[in-house]
Amino acid sequence: MCRQKGKFRRATTVHHLKHLRDVPELALTDSNLISLCSECHEIVHPEKHKRKKGYENMERW
Ligand SMILES: [Zn+2]
Ligand SMILES: [Zn+2]
Repeated sequence: MCRQKGKFRRATTVHHLKHLRDVPELALTDSNLISLCSECHEIVHPEKHKRKKGYENMERW
């Protein structure tokens, strides 16, 4: 994802494109895995941000 934005970061996180709860049989399938840096990984999990209260303005940019 960073490369699409012209940034280069080390990918530190593996994200499952399809949620394991929905398709547990794809847990170890390469086509269902994408490596992301932690920053991009948080972007694809917006639900994690909703728990942080008081930081909405900082995250808007
Ligand atoms: Zn990234
Ligand atoms: Zn993920």
